This record gives sequence, structure tokens and C-alpha cells, in this order.
Amino acid sequence: MAMNTQGRPTGPGSAERSEVGTFTGNRGLDHEEALIFEIGRAETTGVDLPQPKSVKARLGGLQRRQPIGLPGLTEPETMRHYVRLSRKNYAIDSGLYPLGSCTMKHNPRLNEKMARLAGFGDVHPLAPQSTVQGALGLMQALAGYLLELTGMQSVALSPKAGAHGELCGMLAIKAAHDAKGSKRNIVLVPDSAHGTNPATAAFMGYHVKSIPARADGTVSADAVKAALTPEVAAIMLTNPNTCGLFEPEVAEIARVVHDAGGYFYCDGANFNAIVGKVRPGDLGIDAMHINLHKTFSTPHGGGGPGSGPVVLSAALAPYAPVPFVVRDGTAYKLIEHEAEAQDGMHPLGRLTAFHGQMGMFVRALAYMLSHGSDGMRQASEDAVLAANYVRASLRDVMSQPFGDQPCMHEVLFDDAWLKDSGVTTLDFAKAMIDEGYHPMTMYFPLVVHGAMLIEPTESESKQSLDLFIATLRDLAKDATTGNDKRRFKDAPRLAPRRRLDETKAAREPRLRWRPPVRPEAAE
Ligand SMILES: *Cc1c(COP(=O)(O)O)cnc(C)c1O
Repeated sequence: MAMNTQGRPTGPGSAERSEVGTFTGNRGLDHEEALIFEIGRAETTGVDLPQPKSVKARLGGLQRRQPIGLPGLTEPETMRHYVRLSRKNYAIDSGLYPLGSCTMKHNPRLNEKMARLAGFGDVHPLAPQSTVQGALGLMQALAGYLLELTGMQSVALSPKAGAHGELCGMLAIKAAHDAKGSKRNIVLVPDSAHGTNPATAAFMGYHVKSIPARADGTVSADAVKAALTPEVAAIMLTNPNTCGLFEPEVAEIARVVHDAGGYFYCDGANFNAIVGKVRPGDLGIDAMHINLHKTFSTPHGGGGPGSGPVVLSAALAPYAPVPFVVRDGTAYKLIEHEAEAQDGMHPLGRLTAFHGQMGMFVRALAYMLSHGSDGMRQASEDAVLAANYVRASLRDVMSQPFGDQPCMHEVLFDDAWLKDSGVTTLDFAKAMIDEGYHPMTMYFPLVVHGAMLIEPTESESKQSLDLFIATLRDLAKDATTGNDKRRFKDAPRLAPRRRLDETKAAREPRLRWRPPVRPEAAE
């Protein structure tokens, strides 16, 4: 089989059978698909346009002389290429997606129907405000529900993802300190935090001081207190935390941080576990981002953009960035510039060119309205129940790093149970692919050795969870008895691509595509 410079087959071309034993390299309906640059030919095109009349060049000699080199395909070839690629995707719509910390949950079709309504789907960010009153009203309604669910004072809708929301919230904290003339340069971050937390603080020029977790995986108010100095601007704490545990001393942590003149940033990516159960504002939080694409459906990685609104406490509300929607008599108005803000408001500036991810706002509001407050509360309860069902069903075969205690919406295992088996967390995750599952989150949080973080979400039925559990139990049996080492070391055996040579990929990364080596050129 002909190979390109990346070592990938470019199609049939040699008498010998492909690795999978077929002439084409296809596995039945699972098609081997080359890169679009390998199948395209510059002379082919999907459109048939008449030759343009010759016109006088007005580019002052700067016009392109060579073809641009884009692949040319017919329309059916283009369709097939992308449909075949799409069939290699694993998606929440094709199977259980146990990726912890990511909240990959079902996205109701109703959301999509609403997001495609022309009045939302086709609005232009520069349309006159009088023509997009409905869209502005929707943003206002979404903001209202986010404040209701979080018990906070104000919300910035524009941040485009969780990490962007962290930046927004921390800029608000900085603005509040600046307004008081307080110069503080340290941000406290527990060592189990998501990487975006210390990255955000460092990006803003803060020194990051790490807070160790207790033996039970949570952060103690005493440890925070011990780290507090007049230089500490804020703490960034995730709750429920990345070990899947609710921080029991969160209110006390808020108190000691406030007493020391600092602010409390909460990473709200795990909000799915507590929606309708507890309001972050009641816990003393000053700023928190909400991943609309986690908590309010539309799983990220499913093709859509993210959206990370930030809710702010009364202390930080004056610094909320522009733009934001206000009610002006019977109309809605988008406040676009700092100078337009009412008295007492000191917007920290602007985070995005326009107002944020409109499509995500529509989906999130559709999710909220179709669930109702009772439905959202039940979704949180079901997410926690599902995670604990997985935990209780696997705890006799897999080990839990912080003892046998109930978890929130995700369950954390470590690799202590694989000790001396020769099987690693990575091997185990790869073997899951052969069984048709996306692996769980691996090696995160970093504080747990060989971490395996499983978040089933509320989307899965009991039958679906039972099959998942039975699969993991079967894998666990082989992993620990050494029955079938190939099931792990060779995995994935049935995926379109085998396991990457990670060392080689890191040492000799090939970051540019090069044209395939054509057989005739080699002769
Ligand atoms: C997903 C996540 C983030 C970052 O959110 P993005 O939308 O991916 O930028 C931050 N913290 C935690 C705990 C997360 O799970």
C-alpha cells in the first residue's frame, strides 16, 4: 500500500493486503480516508463558471501568478470526504461520554430548533438595536435566570469559554483592588485546580501560590488562612472540586479570604452538580464563570463554540465589562461603551468584539425553560446519583484515592488497584476504545496518581450505566489477573488508528503536511 510522508496509506496501490486484510484498507463501512489534499486535484472543481471577461488588472502587479494550491474536488467527493470523516467522530449522540470535568451531556434537539430560528440564527452583531429587540430580550432573560440560579448581583455574558470567564472575573477582582488603591500580587490556587486557574492568574501577572489539599481531597480553611497575607488578591477555588467533592469549608474559606481583604473566585465548571441545590452567592463567592456548554447542555467538542458567562457579587458588579443589556423604558438597550454606563458603574473594559455567543445563549435559555426549576434541580440530583452508582458498582475492583466517600457529579479512581499488573491508566483507557467507549479523563487532577475521572452525567439510563459498569468490570478483571495483556498493551486494536508512539511524536513532531510521495516519483 502506498504511504504518504506521514506513514498513512494513501489508498490501494500495491498487491499486498492492507494491515486490516482488505484491498482498499477499508473495514467494511468504516472507510479509510485520505487527507483532502491527497484526494484533491487542482484541475477539478465543483462549480462550472464561464471564463471571466478579461479586465484590466488593478492590483498594480501584485496579482497572484501561480494557482493557490487548494485541493479541487467535485461536490459529491467533497460530501463523501466530510461525511466519512464525521463517521470517525465519537460524540455524545453516539455513545456514553464519561469524560470527567467536561460534563458531556445530552443536548436536547429543542435547543437546536430554537437556535435555528431566523430571528436568533440570522441576527447580525451590527444590526441596529431597534431590529434585534427580541435577541436582546433573550440575553436579558438568560442573565436573569443565571442570577437567580447563582444568587449573584450581576452577570457578564460576553466571555466565550470558561477560561475566558476566569480572565473576566479576575479582571473584575483586579479592578476592585485598583479602585481601592490596593496593590496585591498573589493568587491562591489549590493544587487540584484545573490548569486554566493558575494560567489565568499567571497571565495577569500574579504570583500563584499553591494550597495543598487534605488527605480527604478537600481544602481546609486553616490551610487557606495560613497562606493569606496582605499581598493576596484572591483565591481561585473550584467547587465542587476537581476530585468530584463538595468543599465542606467553602463558606469559612470565603470568610477568611474576605477578612484578609481578598476576593473569592470560584471556578464554576462543575455547576451541573449543584444547580437548584445551592446558590454560589450564598457561599460568599465574588465571581464565578458558568460553562454554558457544560451545565446547560451543548457539550463542547461536539462542534459548537463554548460560552462562559461570569456572575459577580455586589462588591464586583460595578466593574462588569461592556457590553451588557439594560431595560430602557419598554425597549432593551445594549450598553456598548464605558461612558454610557450609569453612575456608580466602572466597567473594566471589553472582552470580545461583540456581545458573546448568541447561539449558546439561545440553547442555554431553551434548556432552562424546558426543564423548569424542578427539572434543573432533578438534573443535578440525577447527575450525582449516576456518578455514585458508578462509584458504588466499581469500588470493589477499582481504588478511590480519598477513601470510600460519596462523590458529587463525577467519581475519581486512582491506579493503586493496577499496581504490579503492568497495566497503566493509559492502557486501560485505550482498551475502553476497543469496547466502543470514549475514555474517561485520565491523569487529571494531577494530585492523584494515575487518575481516572468519570462523569456519566444525568443523560444516561440505568441500562446504559449497567453496560458501562459491566464493561469496566470485565476490563478490570483482565487487567488485574493478567489474563489478556494484549487487550491493554496493543489497544486500541479496532480503532481506525492504532496507538500513537507518544515519545516519537513528542521528539519528532511533524507539524506541517507535505505532499504525498507519489509512486511514479519514486521510480
Ligand atoms: C472545562 C473547565 C474549565 C475551562 O473551561 P473552558 O470552557 O474549556 O475554557 C475550567 N475549569 C474546570 C474545572 C473545567 O472543567
